[in-house]
Amino acid sequence: MTARPLPLNLAPTLIAWQRVHGRHSLPWVGSRDPYRVWLSEIMLQQTQVSAVLGYYERFLERFPDVAALAAAHQDEVLALWSGLGYYSRARNLHRCAQVVVDQHGGRFPGHSVALADLPGIGRSTAAAIAAFCFDERCAILDGNVKRVLTRALGNGDDLAEGRHERALWQQAEALLPAQDIAAYTQGLMDLGASLCSTRRPACDACPLASLCVARAEGQPEAYPVKTRKLKRGQRAHALLWLDHKDSVWLVQRPQTGVWAGLWALPEFESDRDLWDQARDWPGVGRPMPTVQHALTHFDWTLRPCHWLLPDSLSTAHRQQVENGLPSGRWVMREQALSMGLPTPIRRLFEAGPPR
Ligand code: SF4
Repeated sequence: MTARPLPLNLAPTLIAWQRVHGRHSLPWVGSRDPYRVWLSEIMLQQTQVSAVLGYYERFLERFPDVAALAAAHQDEVLALWSGLGYYSRARNLHRCAQVVVDQHGGRFPGHSVALADLPGIGRSTAAAIAAFCFDERCAILDGNVKRVLTRALGNGDDLAEGRHERALWQQAEALLPAQDIAAYTQGLMDLGASLCSTRRPACDACPLASLCVARAEGQPEAYPVKTRKLKRGQRAHALLWLDHKDSVWLVQRPQTGVWAGLWALPEFESDRDLWDQARDWPGVGRPMPTVQHALTHFDWTLRPCHWLLPDSLSTAHRQQVENGLPSGRWVMREQALSMGLPTPIRRLFEAGPPR
């Protein structure tokens, strides 16, 4: 594709718009505290602002600074994150806090290159922290910003190819203003999160309307171009919700893979495996409605079964049941709700066992 000249008025136009129409009421906007900016940037990845607000406040209340977060137990961090999804972010958040405390004396490095070396901080997130907190002139390029820039510039190259993505980074860098980098960076984010939406962008209200190539072509939704589609897989498992009195048997998932480090119900390859396991158990088992859960790479069909052991269970019987289960522990159901649970499991507990 022939390169078009870059619109030199893009940055000043965006800065002027951000000062008036930007999302100034968001609690992290305008902050120059790397801890707060970093926390908001990580939480906002693949997550809507409305979902993040409550989590952001609760995190800051419990962990007011990076030292408090570093000193916490991972279970507590995952519990506070529970429901926000993409749990690798929470584990990296915790690890990153520990690295900042152990290797940087509790202060975030003051440059984007050093920030991008920290766990869970990619190039765009590092640039955002550096721009907001240290006025560093560096470009961000998250999903929303890719959309704004490819549309405004009419960049229809396939971003699935590394060379095209690199070229877009170069364009993003060439567009940086000489000053007001924080307002410019925030303006790109605000525009991508509001008017320049994936579907039906509000071009008539957009500050970039007069220079936007995609708008002039009448096809803003044709950008950005990315041909390689994620191949989604399918999985199905049976889940055992085992109750005894007020307690449920929970298993902590391994530190890698799906729901890593979270507490969940024991998982079986099939319903048959589960029922075979429970064949000689006392009490009553009842299948529950199937749950469909979408993860980044696959759709997961979960078939929970609720098994209620009798209150009067002997120690020997209880031991027999536990011996056949993946290693875990009994947890009071009330207490389970304050632990790091995957969203589908939390919803099951909140709805309560079948009657
Ligand atoms: S004019 Fe439309 S497509 Fe172009 S940047 Fe603005 S909202 Fe996006």
